[in-house]
Amino acid sequence: MSRRDFSIGKASAIAISCGVIEDVLPALSATPRQPILTDGPTEVAQVSSSPTADIRPREADALVLGAGIAGLAAARTLVDQSLSVILLEARDRIGGRLWTDTLLGLPLDLGASWIHGIKRNLITKLADQFGVETVATDYDNCIVYNFDGRKISDKEYIAAESLFESIYALHEQEEIDMSLQQAFDRVLKNRTLSDDQLHKLQFVIEGEYALELGADPDHLSLWEWDQDGEFSGLDVVFPKGYNQITDGLANGLDTRLATKVELISYGANGVAVETSSGSFVADKAIVTFPLGVLKQAAVKFDPPLPAWKQSAIDRLDMGVLNKVYLKFPNVFWDETFEEISYMGERTGEWCDWLNFMPYINEPVLMAFHGGTKGFTIEELSDAEIIAGAMKILRVIYGDGIPEPDGFLITRWGKDPLAFGSYSYIPPFASGDDYDALFKPVEMFYILPGRPQAAISRYRAWSIFIRCRGGGGDRVSGGE
Ligand SMILES: Cc1cc2nc3c(=O)[nH]c(=O)nc-3n(C[C@H](O)[C@H](O)[C@H](O)COP(=O)(O)OP(=O)(O)OC[C@H]3O[C@@H](n4cnc5c(N)ncnc54)[C@H](O)[C@@H]3O)c2cc1C
Repeated sequence: MSRRDFSIGKASAIAISCGVIEDVLPALSATPRQPILTDGPTEVAQVSSSPTADIRPREADALVLGAGIAGLAAARTLVDQSLSVILLEARDRIGGRLWTDTLLGLPLDLGASWIHGIKRNLITKLADQFGVETVATDYDNCIVYNFDGRKISDKEYIAAESLFESIYALHEQEEIDMSLQQAFDRVLKNRTLSDDQLHKLQFVIEGEYALELGADPDHLSLWEWDQDGEFSGLDVVFPKGYNQITDGLANGLDTRLATKVELISYGANGVAVETSSGSFVADKAIVTFPLGVLKQAAVKFDPPLPAWKQSAIDRLDMGVLNKVYLKFPNVFWDETFEEISYMGERTGEWCDWLNFMPYINEPVLMAFHGGTKGFTIEELSDAEIIAGAMKILRVIYGDGIPEPDGFLITRWGKDPLAFGSYSYIPPFASGDDYDALFKPVEMFYILPGRPQAAISRYRAWSIFIRCRGGGGDRVSGGE
């Protein structure tokens, strides 16, 4: 059994982004039709239809800020409903945290890789619509090595997982919220474990949290960490890259790249957005910046976001997952296993490798670092990172292995347009904080229902500002 079998949440973040769109967009359009990205019927709220005159000419009906999957899907839907839309994006590319890089001569995803659970998942629909090839992955197809290069037997590994399960079951008895780590420590205080047991337990815990959620147990709320919904069906990756989905959505949209938003002013007369490439005015704006960008106040709002919404932004936090790709001249590893795990002396370092041979038939390995280790690796130089990777591969496969032909290293925590990979729920924050991101500032109109999609561990979210005559503003955010 793979440690990922413990993974409770397998929802797709990206589908969540579209979930926001399903909920919000029907009310944004003046003459709504069935949005292309929805699954079910949508009800349209009654809104005022006579905006007051503007003081400045409008460039478009709506501005969509950020051209990640959320922004692209929002813009696509609005355009399909006959609204004029301009997408403003700070990077010189679309896709945001979906980023297929071809520097090594083949498409490799530096951000998201998977559709987690293909059934009833909007990304699956888009992949079908755009004719994008996918390949199923199997986390059970895994081999685990100890720090000395010895293979860990199934029996040993299952024992470590069982130990984790017993601790996990006990910690749920706590009556006040605290960090997961504090709860684990309370349980462990009453258990006598050998060093070897503790080492293996830490490895399992690393896989459960830092690598899944981008945050270590001491940063996660005992009660609320797991707000994930789950899509059923296979997990799949895109051999030719995730950006095939964003490229499909972006086709024909008016997208302004290298346009960094600095100030968003909103009120009864519309929305004015100041950017590095001039200002834009529209009736409405949809903001799809990552939580990390909003936490850093990298973009200013005028008026500022209300306190209850700002405090939700403050309470939630952004974790990190980083990837290191290594392309070799030939395969020297266990070619048939998809996942190669390493229980190193320092937990979390080079512990999780993906073999890309089964997916793209190329000699590529990719290592994950998450949570604290994910942030720490960002401080190292490229040369130090590659030396660290090769040291571990030599422990496992011997000194005769070749040097890599090329590498790719991500540093999502330092990325000023993301400040992390996805969000998580720290102690004393809760799923209610995500609800607060959805909640309107003023109930100028009522949107029906909750977002249909469940909250995912990959926390992308959007703020929605709608400005109309009469002073109605709506700011809504969600996963
Ligand atoms: C390493 C990694 C692995 C992941 N793995 C998976 C996975 O396997 N499956 C999965 O479902 N999800 C995964 N995710 C999460 C997934 O990538 C995100 O949830 C999703 O891409 C978020 O989309 P978004 O449009 O909401 O945000 P983003 O993609 O971040 O888009 C926001 C856009 O806003 C732009 N922006 C920011 N600030 C400004 C500004 N001031 N002015 C103008 N533009 C600005 C950004 O450049 C960006 O393009 C992963 C993420 C990472 C980083």
